[in-house]
Amino acid sequence: MREGILVINAGSSSIKFSLYISEGNEPPLLSCKGQVEGINVAPHFIAKAPHGGVLNEQRWPDQPNMSHEALFKYMIDWIEAQLGDAELKAAGHRVVHGGSQYSQPLLVTDELMEELERLVPLAPLHQPHNLAPIRALTKVHPDLPQVACFDTAFHRSNPWTAQSFALPRKITGEGVKRYGFHGLSYEYIARQLRKLSPATARGKVIVCHLGSGASMCAIDGGKSVASTMGFTAVEGLPMGTRTGSMDAGVVLYLLQQKGMTPKEVEDLLYKQSGLLGVSGVSNDMRILLESSEPHAAEAVELFVYRIGRELGSLAAAMGGLDAIVFTAGIGERSPQIREKVCGHAEWLGVEIDDEANRHDAMLISAADSPVSVWVIPTDEEMMIAKHTREVLRNLQD
Ligand code: ADP
Repeated sequence: MREGILVINAGSSSIKFSLYISEGNEPPLLSCKGQVEGINVAPHFIAKAPHGGVLNEQRWPDQPNMSHEALFKYMIDWIEAQLGDAELKAAGHRVVHGGSQYSQPLLVTDELMEELERLVPLAPLHQPHNLAPIRALTKVHPDLPQVACFDTAFHRSNPWTAQSFALPRKITGEGVKRYGFHGLSYEYIARQLRKLSPATARGKVIVCHLGSGASMCAIDGGKSVASTMGFTAVEGLPMGTRTGSMDAGVVLYLLQQKGMTPKEVEDLLYKQSGLLGVSGVSNDMRILLESSEPHAAEAVELFVYRIGRELGSLAAAMGGLDAIVFTAGIGERSPQIREKVCGHAEWLGVEIDDEANRHDAMLISAADSPVSVWVIPTDEEMMIAKHTREVLRNLQD
């Protein structure tokens, strides 16, 4: 029987979906994907075929404040009409925070929803938006199994030291610790690498997820042992608009000396900094690489420098390095950034093949490079679809 698996990835102003069709033990196949965006401003629904052709598009110019629920219902109705002879079997959701306890995807129950609700203070900008579509879908399809896939889960294998801040126990005991994010992407890459090169996957690997959100992860023998993101997704590398790691004293200075409100500081750290803040030009790496503005070049330089330092730090956390993997928008498509980053990592034994790098080849290291360098496209939605199917199978066994 052909089974439909719906994957939902919801944010503050958009709900993205992917519909997969799964048959027997074959890998799930993407059938269509799309999103509702501009929620509360100018709602817009668009759905595309796997290779990008537009299947449906809809706007509601007379109803800019159309409810979340009504938009969600429109989206679900459209998706269900696409199922053909397949039956919708389950939905998988990206949930940013699974706290300390959840290291695996889980079937959604009332009890789990209560627990996930309790984690909202740890990710107030994301968690409520991840939970809303689970509730909305429960209303429309009370019996449809739903699976929560956590962005923090893959990092629960980190040792205590990698998860800890040097804060008093009373505060760390409340959950103020390093969780790490982008876990679904890293897990997908770890699985892909296992298929492409089992020997490499058994070694010490650093994955650079360089998108508009950017982080890095040290994976030793397939398990995450350290990552650059911590309590929130603002730690680590500078990103499109986020600062990345910064002396916590700067936050105190902004609050105490400049009289900024917590909301203003949040806006500064999350939305006005990173590549955008440093360049004053754009948060888009393509624009920065083409710009002749000196500040644009400096933003790129700072991004690359910080990746270089984190490479050293993560290699130290593992006590060695066998491979580097580049992924996400910048990692998959920018030979220039990969070349610059690898230039900083020559001391670690990294040497790339310029020709392979220019062509976005899968393996871009020179034949005699002690550290192999890979470019592997990530697919968080596929990871969620696979997890959802696995949870469903366990349920049926
Ligand atoms: P998101 O985190 O939004 O999913 P992506 O993984 O799609 O982000 O990455 C978005 C980033 O990738 C943007 O900064 C964009 O400029 C960058 N990017 C996309 N294509 C290229 C390219 N060819 N060269 C350099 N950067 C690119």
